[in-house]
Amino acid sequence: MSINSKNLVPVLHAEWVGSQTAVLIDTISIDSRSLQNGAQTLFFALSGTNNDAHLYISELIEKGVQNFVVQYIPDNCLGKANFLIVKNSITALQKFAGYYRDLFHFPIIGLTGSNGKTIVKEWLNFLLSPDYNIIRSPKSYNSQVGVPLSIVAINEKHNLGIFEAGISTVNEMDNLEKIIKPTIGVLTNIGSAHDEGFLNLVQKIDEKLLLFKESEVIIYQKNEIVDSCLSQFLAEYMLNTRILFSWSYTDKQADVFIQKKENITGTNTLEYQYKGETFDLEIPFLDSASVENSITCLLVLLYFKYDFAIIQSRMQLLYPVKMRLEVKNGIHNCSIIDDSYSSDFQSLKIALDFLESQKKNAKKTVILSDIFQSGFSNSELYSKVAQLISDNKINRIIGIGETITSFKDQFSNIITFQNKEDFIKNFENLAFENETILIKGARSFQFEEIVALLEEKTHETILEINLDSISHNLNFFKSKLGANVKIMVMVKAFGYGNGGLEIAKLLEHHKVDYLGVAFADEGISLKNGGIMLPIMVLNPESTSFPSIIQYQLEPEIYSIKGLNAFLKIAQEKNLKNYPIHIKLDTGMHRLGFEENTLDELIATLKGNTTVQIQSILSHMATSDEARHYDFANSQIQLFEKLSSKLMNALNVNPIRHILNTSGISNFPDAQYNMVRLGIGLYGVSNDLSEQKYLENVGTLKSIISQVRTIPAGDSVGYGRRFMAEKETKIATIPIGYADGISRLWGNEVGYVMIKNQKAPIVGSICMDMLMVNVTGIDCKEGDSVIIFGENPTVTQMADALKTIPYEILTSISQRVKRVFFR
Ligand SMILES: *Cc1c(COP(=O)(O)O)cnc(C)c1O
Repeated sequence: MSINSKNLVPVLHAEWVGSQTAVLIDTISIDSRSLQNGAQTLFFALSGTNNDAHLYISELIEKGVQNFVVQYIPDNCLGKANFLIVKNSITALQKFAGYYRDLFHFPIIGLTGSNGKTIVKEWLNFLLSPDYNIIRSPKSYNSQVGVPLSIVAINEKHNLGIFEAGISTVNEMDNLEKIIKPTIGVLTNIGSAHDEGFLNLVQKIDEKLLLFKESEVIIYQKNEIVDSCLSQFLAEYMLNTRILFSWSYTDKQADVFIQKKENITGTNTLEYQYKGETFDLEIPFLDSASVENSITCLLVLLYFKYDFAIIQSRMQLLYPVKMRLEVKNGIHNCSIIDDSYSSDFQSLKIALDFLESQKKNAKKTVILSDIFQSGFSNSELYSKVAQLISDNKINRIIGIGETITSFKDQFSNIITFQNKEDFIKNFENLAFENETILIKGARSFQFEEIVALLEEKTHETILEINLDSISHNLNFFKSKLGANVKIMVMVKAFGYGNGGLEIAKLLEHHKVDYLGVAFADEGISLKNGGIMLPIMVLNPESTSFPSIIQYQLEPEIYSIKGLNAFLKIAQEKNLKNYPIHIKLDTGMHRLGFEENTLDELIATLKGNTTVQIQSILSHMATSDEARHYDFANSQIQLFEKLSSKLMNALNVNPIRHILNTSGISNFPDAQYNMVRLGIGLYGVSNDLSEQKYLENVGTLKSIISQVRTIPAGDSVGYGRRFMAEKETKIATIPIGYADGISRLWGNEVGYVMIKNQKAPIVGSICMDMLMVNVTGIDCKEGDSVIIFGENPTVTQMADALKTIPYEILTSISQRVKRVFFR
């Protein structure tokens, strides 16, 4: 791009306030944080509801930006830069893009529809790139702002454009049409849903069709509603010479009539009839959305007059498209931005901005493959890339590929490798550490392998913990508490198997009042991890009293013997008012002072200043079972009586608490001044009507290690406990009873979920592995497997195994890595 900024005055209907000499613009920007803004940038100051870019103009002037499109000139900026003053900067941006678009005269494919735009765009780019220099919208830049930004990346070397237009309501498409002006119109899946923003389906289709006002052809899936909208559209705009090119599964009137034939191998054969001939096209997808998107691509290829052999050879290589840049945790405290599936100049610019905004480490690294289809000559291209890398203050750049290697002199600080294999050989020497790494490579380089090397290694089997769900569940139970009722959360047994420290940190963030653990060492590791919340230890052994004191943990005292032992140590250390918790046995008969020991307890504590009763508690045996509510109430009554006696005799007023999770739900009148939440936090309730308000927290996941097909009569696993009655597809999963999966869950009692389908566990569960029947499930090695989570739930599993969710959760072995996410 090379445009004289003053020439834009009539284009944008702007007023010029600035120098008399012309300034050349070679790029535009709307992002004040981008490190790519410079002397030849034209900056459009957009003002949205949350952010007004005008506020950053003086900063940008200091950084060297000289040309701005503004709605007003901010204070103190007059005379310091050139301003094009407009009424509305977004409209100006769109006008600019429309003007720029008109400088080029090659075919442009315009995509719109409710679903599939980005995928079809990426696939068309892949299918057509051997023959064209393509410019396409990056990612899903399809909005009122995204489309103009996409269009201005066109340059002289391009000879085909692919752009998507997304709209959310009426009167939006006209703007986008003026910017894209597609010569080839493609309508992807229109959806039957009644979208917000439109009165009805017809209005939605009518609006979308407006993109095609100047298209020589409109490609679409034939159906009655679209056909009737189309004929109205063509009549209204007098476009009757336009070609309609349609496909259908049902209507033989369509130009391309298609029938699907699924193969057992997981591919799909599309039999299509076109111009009186029939072809069998194989595509690597089974799901209906991917099949439809493939067909849309097929029609474009047919319209471009490709012959069947080329269509088949290219389409069988279609691949699943990732829609977003992904941020992942890396080894040695690195973080990774995974863009390992596209590399063109425009998307590099976007990825670098993303890197700047997402970086977790100050140090920025880019791993970059050769770049294809830039439209520039290689020397031009790599000098531009080098400039971009330096503008973005990248600390190190690693180039992989023959071309980038041969242009390494353009860069000031590059390390290059001829190919990925050389990079991998040198991986250790590169010593990645504490850096944010953007991995950007063309598909053919298969940088997934590099991502896999850099990604933090997780055992293939992981327990994924959703921290947001924990917050949700906490808030659910908090909402049931009376004013001023405190909450203690039980994080014993490693947070019920979900990870102690991480959950404790989250709870500290949410300002719960207390944590509860079973043993001193659990409390010590929380304190060592930086937890400041007070921690009660339910079951402190006398031998642990010194470390309890050292780490400021608060012991539950449940016997005279324990009390005396603690007092002895505490007195030796000259402690004053050390907080302890008195446990009363009101019927659980596990730990606690019984009624007949209270007098001795009172006598021991009377006048004692070494310790102080921080709280009095008891625990219920039947808060979850309606048939035992009488007993539960008798426990509450006894607690009231015993705790009152203690308080009166010692003249103290500590916190009192008796309710666990199901107690909170079933005995709202016994909250006293605190409750002890346990299993509910982790998303489990024993009450179905309550369960639906809780969110699942843990998902136990693994992957398929191997898939095989066995003939009828063969067996699977130890003791031949599964016999195949017919040909059976078996997948092996690397999780066994040593990971905490009960053997009772094997032999077709239990199942796992693969691709949203149930795969029964066949044969006996082994120590480290189990086998499942995946006959009829389209799956392969490496595919994800869910052992429990949303389905099956731990509760369902517990029911089938005649146990309780607590046991399932806490049985998951520590060798299963816990992975936390929001
Ligand atoms: C484990 C435990 C709790 C929490 O019980 P949930 O049923 O998981 O809510 C409360 N109090 C004591 C004493 C406990 O041991």
